[in-house]
Amino acid sequence: MFDWPKKANNQNYRYQELDSFEPEFWKKKPLSALSKAEWELLCDGCGKCCLNKIGIRNQVSFTNVRCRFLDPQTCLCQIYEHRFKKVSDCRDINLDTVLNEPEILPKTCAYRLLAQGKDLPSWHPLISKNPDSVHLAGQSLQNRPLVSETEVTNYEDHIVEWPDL
Ligand code: SF4
Ligand code: SF4
Repeated sequence: MFDWPKKANNQNYRYQELDSFEPEFWKKKPLSALSKAEWELLCDGCGKCCLNKIGIRNQVSFTNVRCRFLDPQTCLCQIYEHRFKKVSDCRDINLDTVLNEPEILPKTCAYRLLAQGKDLPSWHPLISKNPDSVHLAGQSLQNRPLVSETEVTNYEDHIVEWPDL
């Protein structure tokens, strides 16, 4: 059985258990009716929500500054189970966040797409059945020019306008 959240930050482990979920569950019920495990599976593992953002004139701008706990190679959180205890401003990507603050999520975020009535893209691991497809399609943070927040003083110098953000 899916052991949430211990397996939630291990993409390979997560998708091995896909057969125990209802096929295309994300098309059959609204986001508000998903189980915790289904919610977690919807995350494509892109890592883009773990970029630091700044607000200027009521507009959210993404930077290329990654949270110190984001592994830039796997694009997964290294402290997922304890993230809210260790990082005070780590945001819970829950239904409330998705519906009320979609601007803090990238345009490609699966939750944001489904909330907009859109389909998951072909590179989403739930569609491709390959946890690496998000990286292979260039949709994750893998191989992007990132800097750790431990090395940055002025975030405004790091604003990026990548088309998928
Ligand atoms: S942006 Fe969305 S899909 Fe990507 S890692 Fe964050 S929650 Fe998951
Ligand atoms: S602590 Fe939060 S912001 Fe940092 S990598 Fe983990 S999930 Fe992302």
